[in-house]
Amino acid sequence: MPTSRPTAVATGQARSASRSLHDIPAQYVKGVGPTRAEQLARLGLRTVEDLFYHQPHRYEDRSHLATIASLRPGLKQTTQGVVLALSEKRYGKHQFVAALSDDTGVLQAIWFGQRFLRRVIHRGTRLIVHGRVERAGVVQMVVDEHEVLTGDEDDTLHTGRIVPMHPATEGLSPRVLRTIIARALDEYLDALPELLPDHIRKQQGLARHQEAVRNLHFPSSMEDAEAAHRRLAFDELLVLQLGVLMRKQAVRVVEKGIRYKRRGGLLAQFVATLPYSLTAAQHRVLGDVTGDLYSPRPMNRLLQGDVGSGKTVVAAAALWLCVGGGCQGALMAPTEILAEQHYLTFRRLLAPLGVRLALVTGSRRRPDRDRIREALAAGEIDVAVGTHALLEEGVEFARLGLVVVDEQHKFGVLQRAELRQKGEHPDVLVMTATPIPRTLSMTLYGDLDASVLDEMPPGRGVIKTYVRGPEKRPEVYQWVRQQVDGGHRVYVVCPLIEESDKLQAEAAIHLAERLRAGVLDGVTVGLLHGRMRPDDKDAVMEQFRTGAIRVLVATPVIEVGIDVPEATIMIVEDADRFGLAQLHQLRGRVGRGPQTSFCVLLSSAMSDPARERLDTMAQTSDGFVIAQRDLELRGPGELMGTRQHGLPDLRIADLLGDAPILQDAHREAGHLLADDPDLSQRDHAELRDLVRRRFVERPGVAAVG
Ligand code: ADP
Ligand code: MG
Repeated sequence: MPTSRPTAVATGQARSASRSLHDIPAQYVKGVGPTRAEQLARLGLRTVEDLFYHQPHRYEDRSHLATIASLRPGLKQTTQGVVLALSEKRYGKHQFVAALSDDTGVLQAIWFGQRFLRRVIHRGTRLIVHGRVERAGVVQMVVDEHEVLTGDEDDTLHTGRIVPMHPATEGLSPRVLRTIIARALDEYLDALPELLPDHIRKQQGLARHQEAVRNLHFPSSMEDAEAAHRRLAFDELLVLQLGVLMRKQAVRVVEKGIRYKRRGGLLAQFVATLPYSLTAAQHRVLGDVTGDLYSPRPMNRLLQGDVGSGKTVVAAAALWLCVGGGCQGALMAPTEILAEQHYLTFRRLLAPLGVRLALVTGSRRRPDRDRIREALAAGEIDVAVGTHALLEEGVEFARLGLVVVDEQHKFGVLQRAELRQKGEHPDVLVMTATPIPRTLSMTLYGDLDASVLDEMPPGRGVIKTYVRGPEKRPEVYQWVRQQVDGGHRVYVVCPLIEESDKLQAEAAIHLAERLRAGVLDGVTVGLLHGRMRPDDKDAVMEQFRTGAIRVLVATPVIEVGIDVPEATIMIVEDADRFGLAQLHQLRGRVGRGPQTSFCVLLSSAMSDPARERLDTMAQTSDGFVIAQRDLELRGPGELMGTRQHGLPDLRIADLLGDAPILQDAHREAGHLLADDPDLSQRDHAELRDLVRRRFVERPGVAAVG
């Protein structure tokens, strides 16, 4: 990193012409040396542009600070004063106490566990403190945040106004950060281009770009701060939508490499072999899929349908049309157990029609693997069902027509793209049971056409869900015992241990042993975990299907896809360790037959958020409601992992809170591209550059589409 600032960059108009703000290191800002630059980098702030978009997590109105006399116990407030006296309590939990005074009274400000304060705060120091006010004889405050006022002119940045509180880090206080950002604005804000064409800005009633960036940090009113957020969130979401829609356009213009021979009656032939009739929703979705298959453009479709809505048979029908039309198909599932189940299901559904199937997983024996690979490459296998082992080098298809990805949310966008690359612009159908609110799907799956299975197959029993504490555990297992004796089949899922496959397997082994030796003595208790040999897994699943095994103790590998309609009870141990979406999936393993089913969520953690999550499960079985709750509780970033979807991070916008802005941005992006599909018009140049920069030039995002 350069240590001195070239004047051509720091001054005059030359800088805007020669370099963009995202190319100018934060270190060029006055007062930022190598140490500060390193601290800034820890916050992800490397350039002047990064500083501009470092959004405050809150604002503090210091234009009228409360006087000490007016502080009200029970509230979180901000006040200021001069330190009269200091004391420390060193026994027990360390306490640092400062008696602060203004003209109106005295406040005891208290910090816990911050020994270093004695080097920073002295008698006579002027302080701003923010925290919860309490009354214990005298007025006290447990301080969350404080700032030392220096008495120089700089203080006008930090008090007497609405002050931004930026996310900070060790050694880099909000005060220092505020100062650096203020300097960056002074030096470089002039060089910030407008970005939005005037008509959009006016249409949407948005602030100007430079004004918005300044007001994001130093607003003169809370309305200004809000308007700044709205403008900058709009920009960010507009770029996001433009990128997503342009990706969609890019797929639209290519032609698929292989066309299917169209033969009448193919679909009817398949449907006639089914032991049930398709639901209206399944028919409708198959209509969408058929249309895509016979179109010259590759299919790029998302099939969303709640757990148990019957997505597999839709995939089977699509694969049958593909094979019947003279091509090969592939279906990828996230776990071996699910791939094996799909393989069996498809063999039952498709083999009678003459379809040749193979199972492709990582744990197949070498000779089998090689034989299958040869047959696939020679076109002697019609449908390959497998895990991500399908993506390996050496897995080649003679004429790949259709790719199906099941439980898409368990894969990254890159894996989807990789499978696509096994063919020449093949059709792609991705399926997911994780229902997500429309605003999110518009973004995450905005490049896909969408079909929804919004109807359950008829004749499903209800699922009753209960949340139980540890004291009820013996009772729950007694009840399980009775149910098993009465002929029911039960899943018991052991606690989630994310870090270690091995520990996870051990947990399942122990649980199975305890149950066999205890309350389930004499019952056939099976065991299923990821570290078992594939043949053993198959055998256990098969025995559970037939009923030879009554209770299946499993790791969370059974979370997705497993389909045994006779199973009616799901017990989840330590249920609070799972997210809502996972619990919904787990519960979806039962309730697949006509009988009433039960789901018992065992949990000893009764903290509020955990309790709330589990109660949500007890209250509703609607996947959309659960997804919305999940989104609220965990936030969209964590829920969907936008990175995994190949989307740029959002710095300003929040997909949940800013949903209305997202709608506007979506609409505006559509208009823009209808008018100027590749953003080549002059007043779109800044936008085009930004889309390119955030989507195309980012490693990992390039391969998408
Ligand atoms: P998911 O959408 O969760 O993948 P599955 O495809 O596993 O659901 O289907 C769940 C169960 O519903 C399976 O046992 C399947 O055989 C059955 N099923 C699917 N479609 C129908 C239908 N139209 N009528 C009756 N049962 C159906
Ligand atoms: Mg499924």
